[in-house]
Amino acid sequence: MRLFDSHAHLDFPQFDPDREHVIQELSEKGVFVANVGVDLKSSWASVELARKHGNIFAACGIHPHDAKGFSEDTLKRLAALLDRGAVAVGECGLDYFRDLSPREDQRRAFRAQLELAVEKGLPVIVHLRGEARDELLEILREVNPGKGVIHAFSAAHGHPRDFLDLGFYIGIGGPVTYKKNAALRALLREIPLERLLVETDSPYLPPEPFRGKRNDPGKVRLVVEKIAEVLCMPPAEVAEITFRNACELFEIPA
Ligand SMILES: [Zn+2]
Repeated sequence: MRLFDSHAHLDFPQFDPDREHVIQELSEKGVFVANVGVDLKSSWASVELARKHGNIFAACGIHPHDAKGFSEDTLKRLAALLDRGAVAVGECGLDYFRDLSPREDQRRAFRAQLELAVEKGLPVIVHLRGEARDELLEILREVNPGKGVIHAFSAAHGHPRDFLDLGFYIGIGGPVTYKKNAALRALLREIPLERLLVETDSPYLPPEPFRGKRNDPGKVRLVVEKIAEVLCMPPAEVAEITFRNACELFEIPA
C-alpha cells in the first residue's frame, strides 16, 4: 500500500534525535512525504532533505506565523530555494486565530507567495485558521495559481465548495480520527475523491490513539483508514487515490 503524506515537518527539532531512522522506515514502508517549510531556514532544510531522500519532496514558504517583516529580500531568497527542486510554495496563508504576525504582514506575504507560485508554475500549500476565510478567498480569487491544497481542513473552514471551485485539493489529517470530530467526518462526503489528500502535519496533530505523542508520516495510514471507514471503501483504495492525487498536484511521476 503506497501512502503519500502531503504535509509534514520532518526538519523540526522534534525529529533531531532520530530523523534519518524515521525517514528510512518511511522509505521501507513506501511512504512519500511533502516536507513543508515554514520560514527560510526550514525551507532550506526541506530542500536538503528532498535532495538526500527519494521519498521526500520539498515545499518552500513563509508561514503566516513568520510573515512579520516579510520583504523583497525574503521573496528573492524563497525564489532561489524553489529553484532547487521544490514541488510547491508553502506553507503560506492567513492565521487570524493565533495572530502571531500583524494581519497586514500576513496578507502581504501570502499575496507575494501566490504571485511567486504563478510565476514558477507551482502549486501552493495553504494554511487557514481563525476568521480569515473570506479574506483568504478574496486574495485567492485575485491571484490564483490554479492548483494547491487547503491543508489541515476542518469543519471550521466551512463548506469545501469555495476552495474546490478555485481548483484546490482538500488536505485531511489526524483530527478526522478524533471522537468529537463528527462534523469533519460529515464534510468528507462533500469532497470529490479526486480532490482529496491525506496528511499528518507531523510532529503535530497525531491521530487516535496517539494523541499527546509525536506524530510521524507513517501514521498517515490511520488517517486513510478512518476516511475509508467513513466512506465505506477499502483502505488500500483510499491510499492509492490520495497517493495519485498528491503526485498529480506536485507533478511527481506516480
Ligand atoms: Zn504545517
